[in-house]
Amino acid sequence: MTRIAMIGGGPKCLFALLELNDALTSIQETPVRVDVYDPYPPGAGRVWNTGQPRELRLNVNSRIIDASSTLCLQSFDQWRAVSGENAGGEDTYPARALVGEYLREQFERLVEDGCLNLAHRPSVVTGIVRQGAQWEVFSEQGSELYDEVVLATGHGLAGYRSEGMLGGALSATQLTVEREADAMGKVPPGSKVLIRGAALTAYDVVLALTEGRGGRWEQVTRNGLAAVRYLPGGQEPARITMTSRSNIPMSPKPQRIPGPLREVLDDFRTRIRRWGAANAAPSGKATDRPEADLDALWQMLLACALRCARHSGIRASATELCNTVLAGQSQAFSAINSPAEKLRASLRANRRVDPATHEWIWSIVWSGLYAQLVQALSRIQWRTGDRERFNRLAANLERMAFGPPEPTALKLLALFDAGILQQEPSADAVTAEAIVIDAVTAPVGVLSGPAPEGRPAHSLFGSLLANQEIQIRRAERGLLTDTDGTCLNARGERSESLAALGRPTEDPTLGHDTLNRTLHPEYRAWAQRIATKITSASQKVAP
Ligand SMILES: Cc1cc2nc3c(=O)[nH]c(=O)nc-3n(C[C@H](O)[C@H](O)[C@H](O)COP(=O)(O)OP(=O)(O)OC[C@H]3O[C@@H](n4cnc5c(N)ncnc54)[C@H](O)[C@@H]3O)c2cc1C
Repeated sequence: MTRIAMIGGGPKCLFALLELNDALTSIQETPVRVDVYDPYPPGAGRVWNTGQPRELRLNVNSRIIDASSTLCLQSFDQWRAVSGENAGGEDTYPARALVGEYLREQFERLVEDGCLNLAHRPSVVTGIVRQGAQWEVFSEQGSELYDEVVLATGHGLAGYRSEGMLGGALSATQLTVEREADAMGKVPPGSKVLIRGAALTAYDVVLALTEGRGGRWEQVTRNGLAAVRYLPGGQEPARITMTSRSNIPMSPKPQRIPGPLREVLDDFRTRIRRWGAANAAPSGKATDRPEADLDALWQMLLACALRCARHSGIRASATELCNTVLAGQSQAFSAINSPAEKLRASLRANRRVDPATHEWIWSIVWSGLYAQLVQALSRIQWRTGDRERFNRLAANLERMAFGPPEPTALKLLALFDAGILQQEPSADAVTAEAIVIDAVTAPVGVLSGPAPEGRPAHSLFGSLLANQEIQIRRAERGLLTDTDGTCLNARGERSESLAALGRPTEDPTLGHDTLNRTLHPEYRAWAQRIATKITSASQKVAP
């Protein structure tokens, strides 16, 4: 019997187990037992918990959600069409709670109809220690031995408090994903609210305090364009101020990629794949890796942006496009003082009412080539300084490419126009008389900041690091893993039977914190490894 412990029962755990179940269906009486540790119901986990308020919506197009398997052939969109939740097929960004229902249902099917002998352990894991060929997993319920462990802790547990969070501040999650009536009561109608953060988590808070309190949206037409107007419910704060260091708002996601640009992107996808092959690690060992030529990759992205700009009929030099990424905004945008007007300008460019902005060009390039970048950049060896530079520039590009969907951007704009919402630089924020809400999310990986200074975010990773079972490279925050998710230890060797999937592995992997099941193949390779192990063990004992 192979005993597996999954630490964290969110979507990554679900996808890995669905894959394992499908790989083992031909074996009768599977000699495997899987325990999923998570205080939340698995499948949905904490982020997609079904109890969260309905105004919290998906940030990506629902068509990417697919937890289908031999047990249920339906993607999320097919599932909700059958259950009558999206009869017209028009709701592209549904409530997260509904996504959670789908994910939870797939996990329940796996328990009832799958072959994994699957059990949910509703408790927090506090430590993992190697005991010979096995792992001792410590939880609030005691400890147990397992043959295989998977770390899939994603965004971590409830109750995260960011560094620099003020003493009396509320955390965004108390008002959103893990809403507490008590916390909502601390933000009375008519109050002044100051939010630390001006990105997706802050937008959740804004919607929770307006739409979530009875405010409504009226469809209107402004300057010939569809827009929304906010109709106050009377229970919202008088003023909500979002704050951020750069004070640059996220750009709404592009609605669609025009045909000619798709051809340009196709060409560069091939080039990036080639770059990835030339710069990939020759083996799993950390020490074998050549240093990647990041300058060549940036030149490629710049060439792609230039061609996209030309095909979009806008003037943009290489220097201008380059400076847009370095500064986080174009010169044209920096000349617009108000974040609300920047948002309006982005929406107009998105709809092609106004000419494309440099930000729009970069959003097409970054999101259009993202799948290839994820593959090409995974586990590369960085030259000194390249890692830090990449993180800085990638953060700017993500603000241009992975902002709110258009319906959310329109709601924010309506709140700006109604005088309820504003945004200002953190440095100017006046906290006196304001209710402060912290909407700064935990960094990717498992440290509070880049190694070696960053501290482990949880005792679980602290003990694994102390025992040298895992490795975090300098200037990174996430675990270095092999292509099947197996962690590499401090010597760069495979820490056999210990794997990590998703956000804990970010930095060495890119964009792993997503519902998109096709972007990262590690969970599949993990399931294949386990299936091979179980199949060959069961063949040895077969009569
Ligand atoms: C507010 C929010 C909105 C998001 N919206 C989107 C979106 O629209 N689209 C998208 O693609 N992605 C979105 N994401 C990213 C999201 O994290 C991924 O889509 C997905 O949830 C990742 O799955 P996961 O299983 O790796 O991590 P998670 O979903 O974070 O699941 C990890 C699980 O591990 C559990 N856990 C953690 N530590 C322990 C421990 N020590 N012991 C036991 N259990 C533990 C947690 O309770 C949790 O249930 C969003 C994230 C957040 C926080």
